[in-house]
Amino acid sequence: MASVTFEHLTKTYPNGFVSVDNVNLFIEDGEFVVFHGPSGCGKSTILRMIGGLEDITSGEIYLGKELLNDILPRDRRLAMAFQNYTLYKHMNVYDNMALGLRLRDLPRPVIDSRVKFAAQFFGISDVLTAKLRAISDSQRQRVALGRAIVCQPKVLLVDEDFARQNDDRRSEMLHDILKINSELGITILYVTNDYEEAVSLGKRIVYMKDGKIVSFGDIYN
Ligand code: ADP
Ligand code: MG
Repeated sequence: MASVTFEHLTKTYPNGFVSVDNVNLFIEDGEFVVFHGPSGCGKSTILRMIGGLEDITSGEIYLGKELLNDILPRDRRLAMAFQNYTLYKHMNVYDNMALGLRLRDLPRPVIDSRVKFAAQFFGISDVLTAKLRAISDSQRQRVALGRAIVCQPKVLLVDEDFARQNDDRRSEMLHDILKINSELGITILYVTNDYEEAVSLGKRIVYMKDGKIVSFGDIYN
């Protein structure tokens, strides 16, 4: 597990647009932080820079004491849950969750115990051998989260597009990521432009506007 620190974090796109503007923030190890603000304020850009999907123009991101800027995306100990998470419909649940671990050449018993743990954690043990197309949307969502946790990330990034499809699944997803945070202690950065949702989580909210943090409150303000 790890804290996350932004120091003067800035993203300027090639066209000169400053999407994230000198952001400073400390997120504690094991914290669940909600990034909230209007569409276009830079929330996803921050997640994409942490995840390595976007270069950092200037400033630093630290994972614990480790400077993330210099670490290759695949070596960063973090997981991302975004809308376009890729699950393979022709593969079964087990293989979908094991995929990332196999790519890392982990020993088979290690992969097996991690996948089984994740399946149990999310209540999908009974569908491990089922093909993705044969399970429900909620189960698929849990497979996606299962795939995220089997890598034992220090930080989980969740963008608002994940499980936007319908309200039921959204509340299930929130329940699941709150559980990941409380039971596994993984630090979570959660992005939403839904104010009600941001407040209802009862966690620290970082309010953003025009690429800047305008306040970081807690549940009391
Ligand atoms: P949010 O997730 O808060 O809705 P984003 O982080 O996706 O916002 O985008 C922040 C701003 O950066 C937006 O105004 C968006 O139009 C702009 N932006 C995103 N990608 C690019 C790009 N490749 N070139 C220029 N501007 C971009
Ligand atoms: Mg976004």
